[in-house]
Amino acid sequence: KIVMTCESCFSFPLYPLGRRKSVAPQELNKSNKRLSHVVKPPEMQTKKGKFKESSRPNQQFYEMIQDFRKTMETIPLSVTNVIEPHRICVCIRKRPMNKQELNRREIDVVSVPGRGALLVHEPKQKVDLTKYLDNQIFQFDYSFDETSTNDLVYRFTAKPLVQSIFEGGMATCFAYGQTGSGKTHTMGGDFSGKQQNCSKGIYALAAQDVFAHLGQRRYANLNLSAYVSFFEIYNGKVYDLLNKKTMLRVLQDEHQQVQVVDLKEVYVPSADEVIKMIQLGSASRTFGQTSANANSSRSHAILQIILRRNDRASTLHGKFSLVDLAGNERGIDVNSNDRATLVETAEINRSLLALKECIRSLGMNSDHIPFRMSTLTKVLRDSFIGENSRTCMIAMVSPGMASCECTMNTLRYADRYAFNLVSNDKNV
Ligand code: ADP
Ligand code: MG
Repeated sequence: KIVMTCESCFSFPLYPLGRRKSVAPQELNKSNKRLSHVVKPPEMQTKKGKFKESSRPNQQFYEMIQDFRKTMETIPLSVTNVIEPHRICVCIRKRPMNKQELNRREIDVVSVPGRGALLVHEPKQKVDLTKYLDNQIFQFDYSFDETSTNDLVYRFTAKPLVQSIFEGGMATCFAYGQTGSGKTHTMGGDFSGKQQNCSKGIYALAAQDVFAHLGQRRYANLNLSAYVSFFEIYNGKVYDLLNKKTMLRVLQDEHQQVQVVDLKEVYVPSADEVIKMIQLGSASRTFGQTSANANSSRSHAILQIILRRNDRASTLHGKFSLVDLAGNERGIDVNSNDRATLVETAEINRSLLALKECIRSLGMNSDHIPFRMSTLTKVLRDSFIGENSRTCMIAMVSPGMASCECTMNTLRYADRYAFNLVSNDKNV
């Protein structure tokens, strides 16, 4: 039941903007005469409210969403919430509106009432042009709103998995979503301007926890060391981000063991060393691009934190794979005649579908996990098998109306129990 009453929680990204924007054109007019032709007629400038209305596209939908939100009760997730153990955990994170969306005065069509729920207010129009909202609710293990920090997201998603690799298990954590929805921000760290703060992402937070565990007495007798590898999968091929983006071969031996040949695995004595590797690899991911189409949003990046015993064979003890997936958007290439781009998109879709199938099989405790369907799932094979394997998927969504279709695709992919709550067109 989603009936709520907390205006203040939702008004933040919307109202302050409304006020600020309503005075901006007058100020522009004062400082730059050439801009005066874009300023609205004076009667609109004097009537504050009126100007605000006329300057926002989709004002009617905006008001309908605001009205809906007034009826919602919001219980945001906080550090006091209990962390439940999940073998497979699926979460959703909504990022705040960005500058471009705010400048376009785009409307925010996503609400996070808490308790794992997320709502999309999909703007729709009937044949007689009556506007209505199709409000759809999706349920996850946790839902993070736009005020959530990486620390909070980490606490409920990847953090509970750290212990399992000390207990000899495998763990995977995926960031899924459309380009620009916040995958790299979540995994790699906050951006302040163009610079990324690599110590504030899930990669670094997990590394810090791994070293905290290594220092604990109860794990000391395991005599373990930590290593990292960092690679990228682009168009089904593996590139080593810690070794000048060298292309690597993926081989499978007669025991079905998959190996990425010559993948660099760096011994790391501290979390700071891991952060250095994250910086190194992330820089290589962004800059050393191999073809015109190859940019970081079209590839999967995989950071692995590996625990090995300090024995002669450096026996594998546990592994944590943290994956910043390629953008899941499909629409952009529909009209493209560029064959390379089409192949690239098909490959991304195939690997994301394969991933979903593998996670689903894992959830059903199936004996057959279809990891062979893509390079991504092939190289993560050892993470999917075994009693001790645990997985977490963090799906990211953009809040703006322009991203609505992508957002719905992401929610359909990640949500296992999607259902329609209300279709409130009766109220319009
Ligand atoms: P993706 O990797 O999914 O393509 P990014 O992580 O690069 O997306 O995010 C796109 C932009 O949005 C970046 O400038 C990033 O700083 C910003 N951003 C993403 N998520 C958040 C968030 N939760 N809070 C603040 N800014 C965010
Ligand atoms: Mg990214």
